[in-house]
Amino acid sequence: MKCDVAIIGGGIMGSAAAYFLGRSGKAGEVVVIEPDPSYQFATTPQGAGGVRQQFSVAENIQMSCFSLDFYKGFADEVGDVPDLPDLGFTSQGYLFVVTRDGEEILRRNQELQASFGVKAELIDYPEVRRRFPSIERDNIVLGCHTPDDGWIDPNAGLWGFRRAAEHLGATYIKARVTGMTSDEHGVRSLTLSDGQTVEADFFINTAGPWVADIAKMSGGDLPVVPMCRVQHYWKCANDVEPLPLVKDESGMFFRPEGEGFVGGRPSFEIEPGFVDDIGRGYFANYFEETIWPMMAALVPKFEEIRLESSWAGHYAQNTLDGNMIIGRYSPGHDNIVTACGFSGHGIMHAPAVGRALSELALAGRYETLDLSRLEIGRVHRNEPLAEIGIK
Ligand SMILES: Cc1cc2nc3c(=O)[nH]c(=O)nc-3n(C[C@H](O)[C@H](O)[C@H](O)COP(=O)(O)OP(=O)(O)OC[C@H]3O[C@@H](n4cnc5c(N)ncnc54)[C@H](O)[C@@H]3O)c2cc1C
Repeated sequence: MKCDVAIIGGGIMGSAAAYFLGRSGKAGEVVVIEPDPSYQFATTPQGAGGVRQQFSVAENIQMSCFSLDFYKGFADEVGDVPDLPDLGFTSQGYLFVVTRDGEEILRRNQELQASFGVKAELIDYPEVRRRFPSIERDNIVLGCHTPDDGWIDPNAGLWGFRRAAEHLGATYIKARVTGMTSDEHGVRSLTLSDGQTVEADFFINTAGPWVADIAKMSGGDLPVVPMCRVQHYWKCANDVEPLPLVKDESGMFFRPEGEGFVGGRPSFEIEPGFVDDIGRGYFANYFEETIWPMMAALVPKFEEIRLESSWAGHYAQNTLDGNMIIGRYSPGHDNIVTACGFSGHGIMHAPAVGRALSELALAGRYETLDLSRLEIGRVHRNEPLAEIGIK
């Protein structure tokens, strides 16, 4: 098979890239290779779907501003697409809360966000309590409330982009990329698990936590590893007012979901790698012993809850600084790019990153938002560009 652009991995990132390429009307034949249409092991459906503008790195704020508007108007943006899922955008905002230790950074971040036009309000603890009476932990000194933020259904986001991309002509092939050929001009073709070969002029590696394995096929080295993150869904016996997505300095977060709440906390102590059974080892009793006490200390009404389910997802984590790597990465191969290493930000940044990948494929440069600070060069120079404060 021959095409113009071949995308490796059809999660939310690969599908957003395919959509923006199709939308440009200039991309020609776009093929997405995705082995698992159930997306059982992909990161995207396991995410919390949070879409926020509260970041410390300017590009992350700018990407969020674009993505937030895009998700809010998703159906209008993509137009008349058959079977387009409802993204379920819930506009209940985000609230970051900090102790004295986190106050200065929260103030600095808010200032930067406001400079980009983000409605980010600093509120003291009494005001946090006035707006959200269920939040009650007296070492909180400050909150930052972004009422325009919210969350989407991650699976609907993925399928929304996929259906929109297919509607614009992208072809999805159900197979795994197992090999790659290249010559002095760049990557030439992909070998697939079903025996097919896909030749293309341009390649995009959006294989999520598997991205480094694909990179190796053309001699590339991406410092991105799978990192297990467990989430939980619980119901509370007490009435709780409509809350935003709440996050504190420990990384603990929760948000309303249906009749209950979804949330968790990254376990910063664990080693990278895929975890397939959270009933054993480190994560056995994790909710009862670690997460629940922390949640109940922030929202005392969570003393009375029933845990309904827990599940594992895997961040693609950039080991240098936890932020995205975008662009070329493979020595001597200018026609393959990636977008990877999103930690917990990939769903909210997918529209902006899909647009950027499309620009790199078609124009060879960023035409809207300059993301060059997030390229692999910072890894080679060992210059981390990390989020400061709540990540
Ligand atoms: C617990 C948790 C909570 C999160 N919460 C949020 C949140 O609130 N907000 C937010 O924005 N983000 C959140 N994230 C992060 C977000 O889910 C990810 O950043 C995003 O889904 C990454 O999308 P992706 O398309 O890069 O990866 P994936 O969804 O993993 O897609 C990669 C695809 O590549 C395919 N693939 C793998 N190997 C091959 C191969 N050899 N050939 C072809 N294809 C291949 C896989 O099948 C997969 O479908 C969370 C993540 C987790 C784990």
